[in-house]
This record gives sequence, structure tokens and C-alpha cells, in this order.
Amino acid sequence: MSELRKDCVTGRWVIVSTDRRKRLSDFHLEPAQVTADADCPFCEGHEQMTPRELLSYGRQGSAPDTPGWTLRVVPNQAPVLRVEGSLDRQGEGLFDKMNGIGAHEVVIESPRHEATLTTLDEASVEQALWACRERIQDLKRDMRFRSIVVFKNHGAAAGAAVAHSHLQIIALPIVPREVRDEVDGARAHFETKERCVFCDVLRQEIADGRRVVAANADMVALAPYAPRFPFETWILPRRHEARFEEAPRQEFASLAKMLGDLLRRMHKALEMPPYNLLVHSAPVKESVGDYYHWHVEVIPKLTKMAGFEWATGLYLNPVAPEEAAQVLRDFRA
Ligand SMILES: [Zn+2]
Ligand SMILES: [Zn+2]
Ligand SMILES: [Zn+2]
Repeated sequence: MSELRKDCVTGRWVIVSTDRRKRLSDFHLEPAQVTADADCPFCEGHEQMTPRELLSYGRQGSAPDTPGWTLRVVPNQAPVLRVEGSLDRQGEGLFDKMNGIGAHEVVIESPRHEATLTTLDEASVEQALWACRERIQDLKRDMRFRSIVVFKNHGAAAGAAVAHSHLQIIALPIVPREVRDEVDGARAHFETKERCVFCDVLRQEIADGRRVVAANADMVALAPYAPRFPFETWILPRRHEARFEEAPRQEFASLAKMLGDLLRRMHKALEMPPYNLLVHSAPVKESVGDYYHWHVEVIPKLTKMAGFEWATGLYLNPVAPEEAAQVLRDFRA
């Protein structure tokens, strides 16, 4: 069966088409193996291979940029945007441009090369999320930045250039399209209903249950009603809050627990898939506290974008979210 479904936040349509689907086991999976690398810049002992650290945890008297850490944050060696300089926003006739100003940082979650979010203990995952919070709080003081995104590419097929597990933080002088669409959609919902659309989604999905993957005291993992990709899963905090970096410590512990649980389910059900993880949080300078609601999205890399998606912006998803949620529920972590 094939269905057009509309996302209630962004208004984006997707086609859920299970007819043309192969069996789950027929997805072309490229397991995300962490391969050994003697020259890995993120391994303990190789601190001199990265720019100087911005933050580290776990040091008991050891000097910065030497061994003895449990987590390090460093500037990206090859940043997509640079911190130094002025924006110098100007037009070229119709066209808008500014200098490539921003920040691009790397959170190295563990000194051990083979560790991943699936194998790390909860305290280490929480520490990594907390480091992102600390860095965001710091970057927000820079008046040039309008939004800050956190993401992870796990596995070469998902874009990871270094196999050693890490998160990336990018501060931007603009609000990117994906965030803009969500914020605008949430505002439109609020203007008519006077409620947060994400809180509404949580309420309905918890009552319905078919798309819920897992839940704990603070977090709910669910397959969205109109997912772009097979096994796309969102983790939403139950408590309304627009900004990831404003969440209380206890929610970081709950998120770490939920993330580990979800990734281990995906690891088993989908045979170590490459994946992208992203944190969506409110733009820095906008008063969206009433209606935006931070969340995490996890997207296993199982399919490729093709001509139809590029031509239409419609995503073709061969797995219904009800089925994806069922499969992930059945694989206990
Ligand atoms: Zn390494
Ligand atoms: Zn909300
Ligand atoms: Zn989102």
C-alpha cells in the first residue's frame, strides 16, 4: 500500500510506500565498522594532532592537550566556517552573501578508539551531551551566531571522515532551512491552537502507542507519523522546553539512557547501521519559548536519495513508521 502523509510540524509530505519494498533484510546495509587507525587524531596520546582543546573532562591534574582525559572538545581541523572575522553582510544585486563566519567544533566522546554511543556507558554519553550544552552556552555569547546545531555522522556511509566516535557542533550566523521550517510550523500551530505542536504530538502518540519505540521518566522515542526515512526516530523530552541547552541535568541523564537504548535496538535490528543524529534546538535570538520544543532525531542510513526526491522534495519511505516502531520495540536493548 502507498500513502501520502503530511508532517504536522513542517507541512512536509512524504510517500510511505511499502509495496515496492524488499524485505527488511534486503536493505543494502553497510555496517558501520570502526576500523583501526594508528594515526587517528582523536585517540589518547595523539592530542598534538588536533587544534588546542576548548574543553576537557576527567583530567586529574594532567595538562591540556596531553593524555589523561575522558572527553575532549577541540576546534575542527578543517572547519566549514571560521571564527575569526566579521560577517560583512552585503548583497550582489539580488543575491545575498556574507563571510563564512561560524564555529565548528568536535566533541571526542572517549579516549578509546573503538568506543561508540552504542557501547559507551550511560555516564560517558551523558558527559558528551553535557559537553555540548557547555559549548553551546559559551558560543551563544557570540553575538554573530543565530543558531547552533549538534550532530553526529556515524559510519563512512553517513559521512564520518574520522572513524573515532565524535559529535560535531556548528554555530551559524543564519537560521538554517530545516530549523526555520520547524520553528515556523510550530508557530503556525501555536497561533491557531495556543499549544506547542510537539507537546500535542507527544500526548497523541503516547495515547495511541503504535509509533512509540520506548519511553522513560523524561524522554519518549517515537517514529514520527510522516518520516522521511525508514526507521527515522525522534526523541522528545516530555517536559516542554525550547532549548536543549536549558534542559536540567536530570534530562541529560535520561536522554543518555534513551539514546543508548535506541541505538542498541537499531544496532541489533538493522545490523550496525551507519546513522546521523541531530539535535534540534530553538534559534539563539528568537523568542520561541512557548511553541518550539527541542528534540533529537536519529536517522539510520538505509536508503539513498534519488531523482524523485530531488525533483519533488517528497521523500519516498519504504517502511511505515508503525512497522519500524514495532521492529525496534521487539529488539530489547
Ligand atoms: Zn581514535
Ligand atoms: Zn512543547
Ligand atoms: Zn527536528
